[in-house]
Amino acid sequence: MSGELAIKNFEIVNDLLLVSFSDQSETMVPLQVLRERCPCASCEGETDALGNLYKGPEQKLTALSFQVSGIQPVGYYGIRPFWKDGHNTGIYTGEKLKALTQ
Ligand SMILES: [Zn+2]
Repeated sequence: MSGELAIKNFEIVNDLLLVSFSDQSETMVPLQVLRERCPCASCEGETDALGNLYKGPEQKLTALSFQVSGIQPVGYYGIRPFWKDGHNTGIYTGEKLKALTQ
């Protein structure tokens, strides 16, 4: 057992992402929260071995930044949203999605 949470299904309803998991649980994440907590290296930053944090340039978020044109499944355990402002490098695991709802 990997301890990872498989994503069974997902859909966008208005400005919410609804996700159901293999353990029968479900979660709902507002798209705005999803984008603000984007886990990609450019948004969240990456820490090197010495503990220095590297981040991409600050992005100017617009209304389009909180809308998706599509979402791609990544294996069983992740999803990758394609934001309408062109950003698409963030991959959210099932566990990350669950953490966002709390
Ligand atoms: Zn990002």
